[in-house]
Amino acid sequence: MKLKACIVFLFISTFVFSQERITQDMMRRYAEKAQKYLDKEKALSAYYSIDTSGIKIFSSLESKLKNKPEFFIGWAQLGDYKNKLRYEPEAAFKMYKLGKYQLPEEDHLPMPKLKLSQQNEIVDYITVPQRKDLRGLKIAIDPGHIASDFETGDLEKKHLKFKQDVVRGIPDSIEIAEGMLTYATAVLLKQKLEAEGAQVMLTRPSGTSAFGKTYKEWKKDDLKKAVDSLFKMGELKPSQKNYFLSAKADDRDIFRVIFRDLDLAKRAELVNAYQPDLTIIIHFNVDETNTNWEHPTKRDFNMTFVGGAFMKNDLSSPEKRFEFLRLMITDDLERSIALSSCMIGSFEKILEVPTAGDLDAKYLSEGCLGTGKKGVYCRNLQLTRYVHTPLVYGETLYQDNIKESQLLNKESDKTKNIRVQQVAEAYFLGVLNYFTIQQ
Ligand SMILES: [Zn+2]
Repeated sequence: MKLKACIVFLFISTFVFSQERITQDMMRRYAEKAQKYLDKEKALSAYYSIDTSGIKIFSSLESKLKNKPEFFIGWAQLGDYKNKLRYEPEAAFKMYKLGKYQLPEEDHLPMPKLKLSQQNEIVDYITVPQRKDLRGLKIAIDPGHIASDFETGDLEKKHLKFKQDVVRGIPDSIEIAEGMLTYATAVLLKQKLEAEGAQVMLTRPSGTSAFGKTYKEWKKDDLKKAVDSLFKMGELKPSQKNYFLSAKADDRDIFRVIFRDLDLAKRAELVNAYQPDLTIIIHFNVDETNTNWEHPTKRDFNMTFVGGAFMKNDLSSPEKRFEFLRLMITDDLERSIALSSCMIGSFEKILEVPTAGDLDAKYLSEGCLGTGKKGVYCRNLQLTRYVHTPLVYGETLYQDNIKESQLLNKESDKTKNIRVQQVAEAYFLGVLNYFTIQQ
């Protein structure tokens, strides 16, 4: 009997010990992940805690001191909640607002389960089955900005204009709107991906916002509704509300303060509803040190962004804290880093443009966290925060570079522009690399 009791004791203590070790391991991994990728200024410890019971999210330091979390997820429920985030994100957010994860009811249809390794661990190595083509994959593409004409490019301040200046090496005047380049790249990339069997969705048609309307149409139909609702939510002061609804409201102000964020929110909503395997957000960069972009620069870099790098004022709402938690516990971020790393390699090779380092732009050192992968930075942008899939936010080349500006200026139909075609090819090869190299 004594021997039997001893064996049972040994078995239980070994089990308890190994459970404890798993919990300690998870605590360490998530705490490290938060520090490495999410907390840019090391100023967010008031908003979360990771201990032997699980992960807690707090709305303020005061609630943390009172140990009153806004949301709590225990280690045992973490795998199920991650499934919820992946397959029913809206339900996951509802639960977040209720304060804790609730176990599914008996008659609830079971959701597809993640592998055990994915439930309890942060995935370090991305395993994707080898594919000969892209059949069965869904890919969302977001062509940045909206302009298909220079007037709209002006409105969104994404319009580059150089006068002819032979002395500075500009033999002809140059005019580029970023929205035209991103859209043409997206169309070319869509064709390439579809030819390999992927299903592809673009977040906007040519020349319009994600609402399927031009800025002018949106202003006529939806501005009043938008201003009223932002005012009700406390996002606008009474004086701002009056200004934006008055005839003297400047279109650039309406665009910058009201329209832009709503358009970005709509893009994220469309992508999330589509539930793609990955999302590609396309932008073309400029040299931030080139004042007013009136003359060309010699600098030229590629870079990519993924989610993370929250600043101290970036967790001001439950929505933002929910996204912080999602990035912490799912492997969206790890997959985004892997995808973006494939892209950056492809950008450098195909475009023959160097990859930016931490000191090549102020926003990289001041607003981002490095990921350990060259040219891939955590940055808390509206789309890197709200898009719930692995993603790459690409910023290829500097449009105001002396050579690039002349290349990009060619062809009024930008799908015929050789440089744009190269950018589309670089994204395409990046996608193929992601799905084939990551074994
Ligand atoms: Zn852009």
